[in-house]
Amino acid sequence: MGTDHDGNQRAVAEAPPESPLDSDAPQDFGDKPLEVRETDHYVAEYVTDFVEKWDQLIDWKKRTESEGTFFTDQLKARGVRKVLDVATGTGFHSVRLLEEGFETVSADGSPEMLAKAFANGLSYGGHILRVVHADWRWLNRDVHGEYDAIVCLGNSFTHLFSERDRRKALAEFYAMLKHDGVLILDQRNYDAILDDGFSSKHTYYYCGENVSAEPEHVDEGLARFRYTFHDDGSQYHLNMYPLRKDYTRRLMREVGFQRVETYGDFQETYAKHDPDFFIHVAEKA
Ligand code: SAM
Repeated sequence: MGTDHDGNQRAVAEAPPESPLDSDAPQDFGDKPLEVRETDHYVAEYVTDFVEKWDQLIDWKKRTESEGTFFTDQLKARGVRKVLDVATGTGFHSVRLLEEGFETVSADGSPEMLAKAFANGLSYGGHILRVVHADWRWLNRDVHGEYDAIVCLGNSFTHLFSERDRRKALAEFYAMLKHDGVLILDQRNYDAILDDGFSSKHTYYYCGENVSAEPEHVDEGLARFRYTFHDDGSQYHLNMYPLRKDYTRRLMREVGFQRVETYGDFQETYAKHDPDFFIHVAEKA
């Protein structure tokens, strides 16, 4: 590992992040999977096999086409140069940001994800990602420097199960932004799933052709999704908290963001239950 001018760890090709977990272990939700409603469980959900399959799930090429330039336009319009990707996952947005010339630091709480992101950075354009292993709840302890923008994308914030954790994470994001910084955070349209049942058109994000993502159980405190990969029949699950859109917006304002604009599937105007995803753009000043 090297160190950048902010003191963040920077992975080098010889030393990608190592997982302290038994990374070949299968996912384990115990005997009562519907009772697994804990923030800390996300690390154990992203086991090696699932992480390997994840890119098949999100299909980088189609995702690039679906998203277009939405995020980079938002950043460029605000004169952003330095971005912290707090939910790096397999590195899709970090690589796109680097390609667009943004100075980018890539953080995630899953060592499995960071290792895959680092490898992807090298394969997609020879980028050496500056990866930092950090949980959002203690972000300021592990990530250094101030950022013009933070991105938390791919329905990641949904992994926080208590309001206390959500407030803590948002407060940590807020503190890492410059005085006029911006947070871009997206989420599934859980209002539609909770109120009307699941009807995702799979247009955005989860667009791999050989995979289906469907809810196995939904109540006000849990959205348990099943991911089936049709090439080999393998199945994985994620237990997530079904964030209602207006609740997320309220929390953002309550931690201090002055202006929160919400887009539905990258559009400014949308019918309440139409979009699959909401994207919140929260300005600090
Ligand atoms: N942004 C990527 C994408 O769009 O493909 C990854 C999305 S994946 C659904 C969620 C990511 O958030 C995982 O990589 C997970 O490890 C990370 N994550 C979830 N909770 C976290 C937390 N409390 N702190 C840090 N990372 C977290």
